[in-house]
Amino acid sequence: MHVLHDAPLAPLTTFRLGGPALRLVTAETDAEVVDAVREADDSGTPLLVVGGGSNLVIGDKGFEGTALRIATRGVELRGTTLELAAGEVWSDAVARSVEAGLAGIECLAGIPGSAGATPIQNVGAYGQEVSAAISEVIAYDRRAGETVTLTGEECAFSYRHSRFKGDPERYVVLRVRFELEDAGGMSAPIKYAETARALGVEPGDRVPLAEARETVLKLRAGKGMVLDAGDHDTWSAGSFFTNPILTEEQFAAFQERVRERLGEDAEPPAYPAGEGRRKTSAAWLIDKAGYTKGYGTGPARISTKHTLALTNRGEATTEDLLTLAREVVAGVREAFGITLVNEPVMVGVGL
Ligand SMILES: Cc1cc2nc3c(=O)[nH]c(=O)nc-3n(C[C@H](O)[C@H](O)[C@H](O)COP(=O)(O)OP(=O)(O)OC[C@H]3O[C@@H](n4cnc5c(N)ncnc54)[C@H](O)[C@@H]3O)c2cc1C
Repeated sequence: MHVLHDAPLAPLTTFRLGGPALRLVTAETDAEVVDAVREADDSGTPLLVVGGGSNLVIGDKGFEGTALRIATRGVELRGTTLELAAGEVWSDAVARSVEAGLAGIECLAGIPGSAGATPIQNVGAYGQEVSAAISEVIAYDRRAGETVTLTGEECAFSYRHSRFKGDPERYVVLRVRFELEDAGGMSAPIKYAETARALGVEPGDRVPLAEARETVLKLRAGKGMVLDAGDHDTWSAGSFFTNPILTEEQFAAFQERVRERLGEDAEPPAYPAGEGRRKTSAAWLIDKAGYTKGYGTGPARISTKHTLALTNRGEATTEDLLTLAREVVAGVREAFGITLVNEPVMVGVGL
């Protein structure tokens, strides 16, 4: 176990933002993770679990407690079961699954961060979500003081949410088991229209696994959604806001607002989101409220490649980022009556 005092957290995040932690512990084995968590809990010290730091907004004042960096390693492939230590780099694990000829997570290529964080917000992109492939999560349960195994169902996954996100002080993920599909080297059926178009196939078709992965990587790179230290458009947490999910009644009121503001023919995007609910696009709302790509004059701006990513242009503070985020939230609310919700986890700050 490696321990530092008064350690800067900004370099551990993809925003490159946030103040120091009182202690930064780096754990390289499950036993070290559990020991560090127990030590913090026994002494009543606040604990912040850090994976790849790609979904964290840490306040400028930093974190008054122990930040625990999960640096465990381990990839095991047994038949179609892929077991990953929490600290494994997610995008490398996706590449491994594709090389092994297994389908189920190939469209989640290029998502930054660690394997252990993927269940937290049920990571998803381009028509796939980890919830469809996770069979079990092995976690340290801080309340029970023991290691537990949760089935995919027990993880209570939904859109960008899970049991872990809903109860953030309780579990530290140690390992994740994925049950993948051997489809003879072919991908899972391509669900996302944009991916299907780029691949020249119809939604529902399968394509060679490597082709699916490479196409997604290309699409993502074009939107600044693949990390590149030289490109400030990727100094972000990916999407800063979740796509709003509305009841039919709320959607009807929203549609009315859209027509008043943008004209009778204007039609907001709508996707099915379960019984009596529709999901609309946060990126569309932000853009139509006037916050277009590249918006902003300060050190925190909207990405020049994607309306949904707020970015640090190099000299920003967390406060600069939050000022921009609050302006966007207020503008969208004023224009369409919808309050956007942040996707990244806020540490010591809020919108
Ligand atoms: C350029 C870019 C593109 C992105 N694209 C996508 C995308 O397409 N889809 C998507 O869903 N997300 C996307 N993200 C967000 C982010 O990559 C994911 O949420 C990722 O899973 C976060 O992993 P991490 O290891 O960096 O987690 P961190 O940012 O380190 O942590 C995020 C949260 O998870 C908790 N956590 C981390 N590890 C553990 C653990 N082992 N046990 C318990 N809690 C833990 C942390 O305490 C924190 O609350 C993107 C981010 C960036 C920067």
